[in-house]
Formats: sequence, structure tokens, C-alpha cells
Amino acid sequence: MLNPAAAPVDWTLDALLHDGTVVRLRPISPDDADRLEAFHTTLSGDTTRLRFFAPHPHLSAREIERFTNVDHHDREAVVALLDDAFIGIARYDREPGTSGAEVAFVVADAWQGTGVGSLLLEHLAARGRTEGLEHFVADTLPENRRMMQVFRDSGLSPVSSFEQGVVHLEMSLDLSGAVVERIESREHAAESRSIGRLLRPSSIAVIGAGGRPGTVGHEIVRSLVDGGFTGAVHPVNPKANPVAGQPAYPSISDIPGDVDLAIVAIPSVAVPDIVAECAAKGVHGLVVVSGGFAEVGAEGADRQRALVTAARRHGMRVIGPNCVGVINTDPAVSMYASFGAGRPPRGGVALASQSGAVGISVLEAAARSGLGMSAFVSLGNKADVSGNDLLQYWEDDDGTDVVLLYLESFGNPAKFARLARRIGRRKPILAVKSGRTAAGRRAATSHTAAMAADDVVVDALLHHCGVVRADTIDQLLDSALVLAHQPLPAGARVAIIGNSGGPGIMAADACAAAGLELATLGATTQQRLREQMGSATSASVVNPVDLLGDADPDRYTAAITTVMSDPDVDGAVVIHAPTLVADPAAIAAAIAAAPSSAKPVVAVLVGRDRSLLGPSVPVFGSVEPAVAALGNAAEYAAWRARPAAPEPDRDDVRPAVARHVVHDALERGAPDGWLDPVEIEKLLAAYGIPFAATELVADVDAARRAAEGLGYPVVLKASGETIVHKSEIGGVALGLRSADELAHAWHAMTERVGESMTGGLVQAMARPGVETIAGIFRDPTFGPLVLFGLGGTAAELLRDRTVRIAPVADVDAAEAVRSLRGTPLLTGFRGSEPVDLAALEDLVVRLGLLARDVPEVAELDLNPVVASPAGIIAVDARVRVTRPATGAPSDATRQMPPPRPTPAPP
Ligand code: ADP
Ligand code: MG
Repeated sequence: MLNPAAAPVDWTLDALLHDGTVVRLRPISPDDADRLEAFHTTLSGDTTRLRFFAPHPHLSAREIERFTNVDHHDREAVVALLDDAFIGIARYDREPGTSGAEVAFVVADAWQGTGVGSLLLEHLAARGRTEGLEHFVADTLPENRRMMQVFRDSGLSPVSSFEQGVVHLEMSLDLSGAVVERIESREHAAESRSIGRLLRPSSIAVIGAGGRPGTVGHEIVRSLVDGGFTGAVHPVNPKANPVAGQPAYPSISDIPGDVDLAIVAIPSVAVPDIVAECAAKGVHGLVVVSGGFAEVGAEGADRQRALVTAARRHGMRVIGPNCVGVINTDPAVSMYASFGAGRPPRGGVALASQSGAVGISVLEAAARSGLGMSAFVSLGNKADVSGNDLLQYWEDDDGTDVVLLYLESFGNPAKFARLARRIGRRKPILAVKSGRTAAGRRAATSHTAAMAADDVVVDALLHHCGVVRADTIDQLLDSALVLAHQPLPAGARVAIIGNSGGPGIMAADACAAAGLELATLGATTQQRLREQMGSATSASVVNPVDLLGDADPDRYTAAITTVMSDPDVDGAVVIHAPTLVADPAAIAAAIAAAPSSAKPVVAVLVGRDRSLLGPSVPVFGSVEPAVAALGNAAEYAAWRARPAAPEPDRDDVRPAVARHVVHDALERGAPDGWLDPVEIEKLLAAYGIPFAATELVADVDAARRAAEGLGYPVVLKASGETIVHKSEIGGVALGLRSADELAHAWHAMTERVGESMTGGLVQAMARPGVETIAGIFRDPTFGPLVLFGLGGTAAELLRDRTVRIAPVADVDAAEAVRSLRGTPLLTGFRGSEPVDLAALEDLVVRLGLLARDVPEVAELDLNPVVASPAGIIAVDARVRVTRPATGAPSDATRQMPPPRPTPAPP
């Protein structure tokens, strides 16, 4: 049982209702007496009767005192606020001495049916779990359908019974998959809607749009008007000077009718003042283009947080600040609310960019190359709305087929990973590599952490999530052009068709670099090509196919048709290098007109700019970008074709035992959180992770007795709290065959290592094998991860490793252990027998489960795990534990990230 005094009472968070309105949640406090009383008096007679089973128009002073003073352990209440007033309360009261509690909630009449109840219940359930509750009970009147619906929708599977006119509900607080699924789907709907309201407004106010052309507000109004915005545009400036023919108003409150979206282009210091005014006008969200926030330093960062806090308090969301605006090309909306971004053609590609300049340059390049856009959101300082919110929206947006992201940081990486993996199954997500992550700057304390601290991690993780990663804006556009306009390849076998040898050979080389294979053309295909070539007998009918310099449009058409119908071809690169004999325009027309098939085609017209040929064939000026883009499409297609991995599961893992070990170590005050050898052994055993039999001994006699028990040969290792890399200080003696050898090694070792050696580890010898490393660490960017690589003392030198997000599904583990440069060492190399790969896969899965189940394990490092054909065994382990931050209910609840930038921890 947790100590009630340690219960977190000081948390507040923001969350979204069904319709996308932001509300604030927090525990009730004694200061809330007035709020509670005011809230209660607004409730209708029906509502109070359903809550108290009798009319109850007023709360007594005793009731107010009791309801606002809770111990956050046996009694808890969570409140929802909008405009600083209560709109709902949910509470539980523990049934004394049990792990059950009675739960009740009440929602303001005007907000019933908006999701306040389920949001409160979700957070109350999470609090209850933290306080050791296992079930809730509730009594409700049969006509209180709404309340019963909330319980049913929660996924908590209430069981009901009926007695004396009252429905009695009982539900387990177990965090089942059904509960998590409900929460995620409600979160998705609310986040998607909150963005939809910003991107599909019917009326926009542009605050700070003056009469002077060239100013930001003015240009945004002009852009909206010129772009044919389908709703109303209202410029706002103090003198009410009309802008671009639109009547203006001195303030937003002077605008007749509703305003959905406010675009804010006034100096940053004045921005906080207009938030309340916008709220009073019923605005759903703000796009703040003004600069002068977090990008200018600490004072600006404070201003930025204050802006978002104020906006959310009134239920609004914020895009930016310091952004260049938003675009929605849907003809039903036609909103070009940006400055400097031009007007991209309509199409299926959506872009979110943290950098305004990058956003604008992508849009310009898209316009030049004919890449059609569905939407553009400039995230600016990303104080509130993030890439994750936009993913939620674009997932359902019928007009969007491909999502492009330029992100410098991930606000909530674990959520990004979850969303990307889900959305990627329907629509490709392309991301530009955004420099190094925070991981690279972290001080590394174990092999696992050190090896995970670079860019390879980001690569592996994005790959794991199915995100296509581009290194440059050009690569992003190249891949977008192919993914938006061509079918996905069913495999990696590519045919190359060209009119000269050189580019064909270069394309073949590029294929290898892009993970593509040269298709082997079938005999029928070759025969047909030969016939089509006629007199051009020096042509090549094997891949790369060479149609020769005098190839005319007909020869191209025939060859493309023939090659694409070969069942062993998954896609084609068609190259034309200009010659004196052929008219390039005619060749281009022939390529564009080649019969479309279910296989992708990309064209290389040497020297041309990136563009589209006809309605759908992407064109590149050289072979490398064309092949790389096709390679990305193939990689994405392969990821998507994989069956959705089921949640990993192992019957024999014992989370309770593992947690026990970890909690004891934390109680003990383990130095810097490092577990001792005995604790490590217990922890690993609880998760079925094979570890060489080891005994911790204090002196040479104990060492001898331990060795006898284990059987010679044994290993002796120095043990001590300050010892890290044992072999570096002569603290490892291998293959000791007798008591004498052991005693000799003990004396020599104590001599060498000195005082830091407070004991010894006597360990069974492992069978010879390949040394690998496996571990767990928590990346500030991506959350809990499992690392696997080639290990031993050269691990950090080789840096041959991969990472996966925990928990790791079986298929992902299988792929991970086979994805190293050194994989042949494991799968059999020059006659060596393959090691037990299944056991390595199992290890990766088990580590993922441990990382998921025991958040206190901050870092776990098994190096080496010796892998041989007969099995695997870890012989060295280090584990560091930390107390996870307590605070708001965090497991399985919907909550928005706090306004960014979050203040640096003290
Ligand atoms: P450290 O990493 O602190 O230097 P290890 O316990 O990992 O110490 O031992 C160093 C090396 O000794 C291992 O990489 C491995 O090659 C070898 N070794 C350690 N323990 C055993 C064992 N039980 N059986 C076989 N080899 C071992
Ligand atoms: Mg080691």
C-alpha cells in the first residue's frame, strides 16, 4: 500500500472534450469551496436528483467542507474546469479497509453529453489504480442512462444488478486492452476534431491586419481573399481601415456574427490581451504568426506559456506562435492563411513544418514540380498544436494521402511512435531528419546507453514506425512525388529501361544502395523485347534494358509494356538521355502515355527538373534520386505489408516479483540506483532472462565453496559498488580449473584492484560463442527502448546495434536480431554453425516486456550475452533503477502535453 502522505496532490493538466474544446483537470482543493457552491447552484433539479437521489438544491456548509477536503488516497475528487469554473466533478470514497471504492460524478447541465464524464472517470480510475484500488462500485437511478452509458463506454465492463429501485454497478479497474483502446479512440476523435475546427473554419478574423501592404496581417487577408476563402474574412485594426476590399473592425468583439478562427499578427506583448476577447467571441483557436516568444529567450518563453495557458483555460487551441500560417486547399474551404507561402496546387500531400522557411521552400518546390498539396500547417514554436495533433487529423482526412513532416523535436515521442505505426498502415508518413536528438547529449552510464546515443537510434525507430526518413528537403519531395502518384511496389525487383549503357549501369548501382534488386527478366520477356527491337541487334534485352541511342517513342512504349507485364518485375525506372536523333518531348509523351499498371514507374529525363509527366509519372533529372525515391516506396510497402504485430506476451514473466525487487532496492537506497548482483539475478529470473549461475562471495574460502557448488571451470570477477568495467582493471579471471587456480586468482585480483573490490563473483563458465549486447534504456525522446547488438568488450568500438521501442513484438524482435551489419556472425559465417537465434529473439521480447512493466528500470545492460548454437546466456549485467516521477495520473488517460517550452527542471 502506498503512503497516503506521498500521494500527488499538486497536478493539473489539459485535455480535450469530444468536440475539441480544451478543459483543465486537477484534484479538488480546499480553496474550491466557492467554485463548488457556485457549480452546485447551476445544476438543474433533475441533475441534482440523479446525483443525490433526492432534490438537493443547496450544499450544506458541512457538505462543502467534506467534498473539498479529501486525502487523495481513501478519498479523491477530480474536477474539470473551463473559464476557471467547474463543469464537472468525479469522486471516489474507499470502502474502508478494502481495495474498492464508491464512485460518483456530476456534470453541469450545459456540458452533459460532451465527454466530461468519461474524461473525469478515466482520470479518477487512474488515480484509484495508483492508490491501490482494484474496483469501483456505483449506485445510480435506472433513469440515469447517461451515467450508465459513461461507465459502459469506459471499457471498464461494469456488471449491474438491480435492487430496491437502484442500479448497482461494479467494475474492475484492471487496465485491460479494451480500456486502453477506448481511451485511444476517444483521444483520436477529440484531437482530430480540435484540429479540424482550426483547418475548416467558416469565419476568420485577422487581428493586426492594417491598411499597409507588405505587413504580415495585411498580406494574410489579401492571400485569403485572393485564394478564394469560402467563408468570411474580417480584418481587425484599431482604425478599422478596410483591407483588400474587406470591411475591418476595431476589435474582434465588434465583428458581427461568429468567428471560428483568429489569426494573430500583433506584437507579442499585446497578444495575451486579445485571448480573453477571442474567447468571449467563441473563437475555437488561434494561429499566432507574431514572433517574440520562446525564440527570443526566457521572457518570451514565459509569454508563450502564458498565452497557451490562457487560451486553453477558455477552451481554445493555439498554432504557433512564430509561424507563417496555415493552408487548406480543399475547394470547400480554400484557406490560404499564410504569408510568403504562395499557393500550392491542390493534391493529396499534407505538410507540417516546425520551420516556416522550410515549409515555404517545400511548398514552392511542390508548386514547381506539380506536387499537389492538401494542407500546410506551420507549427512555429509548437507551443500547443504539435505534429501528433496533425497526424490525428490527417489520419481521417479524405483529402490527404501522404503526410510530410519537418520536425526538429518530438513533443511526445512515445505517442508519435504509436500514432505513426497506426497511421502508416493507411497513409505514408515522410519525415526529414532533424539533426541530432537530445539522446546524443546525454551522459552515458552504461554500454547500452552509450551505444544508443546517436542518430542510428532515430533511424531505427523511424524505420520501426514505418516512417520514411529523408535526409534533405529534396529527398522528401522526391519520395513524396512517387508515393503520392504511383502505386506501391509489391517487392524490390526493379527493371531499368534506357537508351544508353552508362545511366543504366549507374541506375543498377543506385538500386543496390537503395535496397532494391535488379529484376531478372523472364525468357518470354526477353524474347518479346528482341522482337520489338527488330534490326537493333546490339540492344540489351537483359536488365538494364538498353534500347540504344536511336530509340524512338514506339520502342519505349513497347519495352515499358513488355517489361511491366513480367511477373518478376515490381517496378521500373525508365531513362532517356538526350540524343540528336530522338525528340525528347516525344519520348516523354510516350513514357507518360504508357499503359498504367499496378506497378510503379519513375522516369529519368537526364537534365530535367523534378516534375510530373502527364498526370502521374514522376520525373527526375538524374538516376540517383529516382532510384532512391523508388527504394523508399519499396521499403514503406514492405513495412506496410507485414501483418500487424500482436502485443507480445510471455506466460512465465512475473512483473510483481520484478517490481518487488526494484522497490526494495529503492527503499534500500541503492547507490545511484545500481542494483547489487543478488538483486540483478532475481530481477532477470523474474523475466526468464538466462543469466550464468553466479555467487557473490566475501572472501577466498567462500569463493572456493561457491566454485565447488558450481563446478569447475569457473570465472572470478571483482565486485564493488564503484567498479564499472571489470576487465579494464584486471577484475576478470576466466577459466579457473581448480581451487588452487581460484585462490591464486583471488589474491592476484585483490592486489590489482585494491580497496574498491569489496567482494567477488564466482560464476559458471559460459560455452564459447558470439558475444552480443542486449539492454533497456529510456530515451528522453522515444521512451522505453530495447537495444540489441554485437557485444563484448569491443561493443562500443563496433557500434553495430539496433533499437526497438518497448514492448517489442515477436516479428519485430526477429527482424531486429537479423538487422546488424554483423548478422552473418549469428546466422552462420564461413562454415560456422548458426547461433540460437530464437533464443535471442525471445530475449529481446522479454526485455521489452520488462521495460514496459517496470518503469523503475531506467537502464539495463547485458554485456555480453554469449550466443552459441546451443543457446544464449548473459554473463555480465548492470541495472539502474530510478523512482519514476509522480504527478498527474499518467497511465491510460487522455491529456495534452503542457504548454511548450516546458520550464527546465531546477
Ligand atoms: P566487464 O564488462 O565489466 O569488463 P565482463 O563480466 O563482461 O566484465 O567480462 C569481460 C569479458 O569476459 C566478457 O566480455 C567475456 O568475454 C568474458 N567472460 C565474462 N564472464 C564469462 C563467463 N561466465 N564465461 C565466459 N566468458 C566470460
Ligand atoms: Mg561486460
